[in-house]
Parts: sequence; structure tokens; C-alpha cells
Amino acid sequence: MKEWSTLEVHKFGGASVKDAAAILNLRHIVQTHPGPLLIVVSAMGKTTNALEEIFGLAYTSQDYTGPLGRLVAFHHEAAEALATGTSPSTAADIREGFRDALRELDEQLAAVSSARDYDEQYDQVVSFGELFASQFVAHVLNDTRPTRWLDCRPLVRTDESWREGRVNWKLTENNLRTTVPPLLREASTLVTQGFVGGTTKGRTTTLGREGSDYTAAILAYCLRAASVTIWKDVAGLLNADPKIFPDTVRYPEISYRETIEMAYYGASVIHPKTLKPLADRNIPLRVKSFLNPEAEGTLIHDCQHPPLAPAFICKTDQCLLSFASKDFAFISEENLEVIFGALAQAKLKINVMQNSALSFSVCTDFSERRINKLLDLLREQFTLHYNTGLTLFTIKNYDAASVARLTAGRGLLLEQRTRSTFQFVCK
Ligand code: ASP
Ligand code: MG
Repeated sequence: MKEWSTLEVHKFGGASVKDAAAILNLRHIVQTHPGPLLIVVSAMGKTTNALEEIFGLAYTSQDYTGPLGRLVAFHHEAAEALATGTSPSTAADIREGFRDALRELDEQLAAVSSARDYDEQYDQVVSFGELFASQFVAHVLNDTRPTRWLDCRPLVRTDESWREGRVNWKLTENNLRTTVPPLLREASTLVTQGFVGGTTKGRTTTLGREGSDYTAAILAYCLRAASVTIWKDVAGLLNADPKIFPDTVRYPEISYRETIEMAYYGASVIHPKTLKPLADRNIPLRVKSFLNPEAEGTLIHDCQHPPLAPAFICKTDQCLLSFASKDFAFISEENLEVIFGALAQAKLKINVMQNSALSFSVCTDFSERRINKLLDLLREQFTLHYNTGLTLFTIKNYDAASVARLTAGRGLLLEQRTRSTFQFVCK
């Protein structure tokens, strides 16, 4: 596999392809990278949210023509703006590709039925954002350098865990290593979709919201790429989200382990599943700003570094659930087994948990559907209370000053600390 030691994977998220100008900026950025390049693209801007809304309406047999019309108009506008600046054949490719993809989306939406599995149908519809965006990018790049569009649905093989597809690494690696090398001999640049995969039966799956980073890691791992670069609207990996915290600092260099922990606690800069495949094959990950591509960004790799500045991580829209056994019995291992089983079945992930004599509390991301499923599963055995609209703060590498600063004036509903991490849930 020596010939692949130079392959670079570049991932462009929704904000970096949010309109035609952003896509042209992407082209400008990759111009300085001769290739071979594998470019992974997310849906444009907030497209995935819009598709979720459209799908929800279709599933409940409501009129979705309004939001669908807006989504189509938004993409149409981008397609026209891109087509205007390119050669006639590229312009035709952009328009035709979009028309075909749109026809496919219409067919999928028409087939949505409340009689069939919600999650499976969700994946068939919500994956279209990446299909649109990756085609636009591929066509626009092909105008200036030999580029091929790659459909990753038959390549990134997953099981049928809809909306959270679990990767079959062996099949995926095999697929990619037979498909990608010949394509890269034809064209120095390939463009594919983040976030989506497919089952052996040819159904589309998605890898979980914000999963495009993970796709980049899957591809890099399987192809033993030289590096991955994630292009963001921030200067690199910061110690806090600059939209929430005023004075952030950038980590110029950070280890895989530290980054995995930050992503796990909810630092939204990188999808939590991204780091492990890269660490396993020692592939460096760069986080850079598409607004300032010359700037250094952050290098994440296998390294030693002095203790880092405290990192502040904030997860909103949290739900704090408390379970108590109905007979005032202590929360036993047997009870916990039942509760954990039900949480897994309802697909609720635990962000923090705490046990006391008579009750057990967990903080999870809020999802009405999933919480209701959990209530159905546990109602008979436990008394259940829950609060919604909460925030979970985590301070990694905390010190007294950072804890004081963040907790000041907040009513804490749950708090927990380990040697390196301080977490609390509040209103
Ligand atoms: N477009 C998908 C989402 O918004 C995947 C991604 O952005 O990584 O969740
Ligand atoms: Mg996105």
C-alpha cells in the first residue's frame, strides 16, 4: 500500500459548504493540495435539520411541500450560482446531477409510511443533504482538476442500526481498497459524502448526527491515509466554544487521548467516534479554519504535552432522569441491570450518572420519543421523575478558579468530580 502513503483526507462540514461562495472557497483551499485527495463533504448549512423536519411531516402524513420547497430553492440557488461560474459542461453536470438527486428524494418521500420503521425511513431521506452537497463539490472541482464523485453508500458498510449505523470494518476496508485506488489513478481527487453508509441489502444508513468527521476517519483508516484535515469555522481545537465562552484559547498540539475525552464529554468540534480509528493507525488529524486556511490550527497526534488549560464543555437540551424503586428498596445491581437494559433499548446515552440509596439518576440528551419509550419499559417497576431543558457542563483539567467561575450563580442539580474532570447539571 505504499502508493497511498500520500493520500490526504479533507473533511468539509456544513458551514464550510453553506452556499456557493463557501464551495468556491473550498475549491480555493484544496487548490494548494495537489493530491491524491479524498474529500468528505457534509450537507450544506442546516440542510440536515431541514430534512429531519420534512421527514417528520411526511411520516405523520402532513404537508411537507413548504419546507421541501425552501430546501429545493436553497439548493437550486447554489446550483445556479455555481453553474454560472463554470464551463458549460460542468454547468450541465451540476444541473443534471441536482435534478436526478431531487427526483430520487421525491421518490423516497412519496414512499414514506407511518406503518414502517421510523428510523429506517429517516435514513433514506435525511441522507440526501450529503448527496446534494458532494455532487456540487465534485462537479465544481472537476472544472479545474480531474475529480470523481464517489458514492460511499455501497462502500461504507454498516449493520441495520438505523441512524447510528455500526461499521463493518472488514467489509468496508475491503470495499475501499478495491474501489479507491483505480479511481485515484484516473483522477487525483475524489469527493464523497460524510455521515452516510449502506447495508448489504443496499439500504442507506446514517452514522449519527454530525457523523461526517467519523466518515473521514473511517476512510482514512481503511485506506491508511497520510493525514486527515477537518476544516471548521474556528481556529482549531479550542478550550471552549467561542459562541458560548468569550476568551478561548487554542491548543496548537494535543494528544489523541485528551481529544477523545473532550469529544466524549461533548466538545462539539469533533465527533467522538472520529479519534479511535485515527489513533489505531497513528494518522495525524489537523483541525483548521476554512476562514483562515494559512493559520496553524491544531495538530492532534500521538504526543506528550504539559498539562493543558482547563477545557469548558457545555451540552444543552439535557434531561435528568431519576429512578426510584417502588418498594423503597435500595437501588441494587439487579435494578441497575434493568435500567441500563432499558436505556440501551430506548437508545438513550448516559452523559453522567449518579447512584444514591433509593434512587439512581442519569443525564441524557433529550429526545421525547426515546424518553417515552424508556417510561414504557420501566413504569411498572420504578417511579420515574425527569427534568428537561437542562445544561450539562464539564470542565476537563479543572482547577479551583475554573470551577468557581463556571458554577457561580447557578443552581446545581447534580455534581460530580474525578481527579481531572468536574461535571454538573443545572437549569
Ligand atoms: N449533515 C449531518 C448533520 O448535520 C452530518 C454532519 O454534519 O456531520 O448531522
Ligand atoms: Mg452538519
